[in-house]
Amino acid sequence: MTDRARALVPELRSRGVQGVVLSFVDTAGIDRIKAVPLERLEGAATWGVGMSPVFDAFRSDDVPMSGPGTLGGPDGDLRHVPDLDRLVVLDAQPGWAWAPVDRRTQDGDVHPGCARGFARRQVEAAAADGLRFRMGIEVEWAVSHGDGDTFVPACTGPAYGMVRLLERSDYLRDVMVALQRQGLDVEQIHPEYSDGQYEVSVAPADPVTAADHSVLVRTTIRAVSARHGLRVSFAPSVVHDHVGNGGHVHLSVWRGDVNLLAGGTGPYGTTDGGAAAVAGVLDELPALLAVGAPTPASYLRLVPSHWAGVFAAWGHETRETALRLVTGSRGEQGRRANLEVKCVDLAANPYLLVGSLMAAARHGIRTGATLPPPVVGDPAFAAEDDRPARLPTSLGEALARFAGSDVLRSALGERLTGAIEVVRRGEIDRVADLTPEQVVAAYRWIF
Ligand code: GLU
Ligand code: MG
Repeated sequence: MTDRARALVPELRSRGVQGVVLSFVDTAGIDRIKAVPLERLEGAATWGVGMSPVFDAFRSDDVPMSGPGTLGGPDGDLRHVPDLDRLVVLDAQPGWAWAPVDRRTQDGDVHPGCARGFARRQVEAAAADGLRFRMGIEVEWAVSHGDGDTFVPACTGPAYGMVRLLERSDYLRDVMVALQRQGLDVEQIHPEYSDGQYEVSVAPADPVTAADHSVLVRTTIRAVSARHGLRVSFAPSVVHDHVGNGGHVHLSVWRGDVNLLAGGTGPYGTTDGGAAAVAGVLDELPALLAVGAPTPASYLRLVPSHWAGVFAAWGHETRETALRLVTGSRGEQGRRANLEVKCVDLAANPYLLVGSLMAAARHGIRTGATLPPPVVGDPAFAAEDDRPARLPTSLGEALARFAGSDVLRSALGERLTGAIEVVRRGEIDRVADLTPEQVVAAYRWIF
């Protein structure tokens, strides 16, 4: 990376860059950073910058939890090494560039608590099985007037309505253009269902890049919002009892150039491998919520008939099951067919999430997992005997399921498993005595 940094610095200088933000996402889902002046980039790329491993056990409100071994303790140091292949000049923060980091030990090994390292290991394990994943993470967010703690929707027009775009026309254009100038391929941007809510999706990529994009998209939205005097929330629930912010993950799995979710003889054109991958994800979903729905507020979003997908079931193009098989228009299925995982939100660490999804899907393929019949319609209104099981309805329940998931625990390894458990328990304790409204308020502006 030294040569690469040396070559990059003059180019960055000519583009007005003065500082580079080095960013990682901790177990709680918080994007934490250090920054270096441009002159220091070469050193940072060669040796990394120091940062404590304590963040593995930080709760989302910045209180360190203590766990087994050294988890959450004051000792030790890590080197955060920027991935220069992912460095982006930030459009809405003049003078700044951004790069995600890999967290290494002082001996140069990947830190076992590095979430990005975990996602990369899963990509490599998939490649060893002859598999390749493509993913994209949708970003929903709610926009509030001013900087008060109360949520005051910054637009009031109808859901998905033109009026809502008109109300914030310059703002939405600025978000879209900033993303594009940063090299992101914006597929869609639109007003969403809830008050003040919008959504953007960018093109799918390899899973580590998709997770990087999720972080970068949110940083960009925050920066553009600040310039427009707006406050944003990506929290799972922004106003109690209203539709929340999802962070749906779209994934497809490929053997060579063949999309396993299309062109086969299984349900809706899935191949045997594709159906087994979907079944693998379905089997792990209750445990996976400990990764993908990581706060008590996540479960205030996960209510039936809110398009959040709270039933442990799958369906073709249905928005009320946790898994939605998207087949795409006739003619483009091979390219576009994918699985949408709806029950997860943007408080999740995206690297832990994409890595866990790969582990679950690969396990399904390896064991030839079988799919139950698809669900049609909203399971909330199905006869009780036909209704699929609900996913966990609390973080505590998800944690209990996580405790029983050998698939996720062995993929994550001891350090990350321990970190997830200690941080999630901390989040539960933090809000144990709060009303749902207070829980929502506790997370509204953290994410
Ligand atoms: N906002 C919904 C959620 O909480 C999703 C709406 C949609 O299907 O796009 O996940
Ligand atoms: Mg949406």
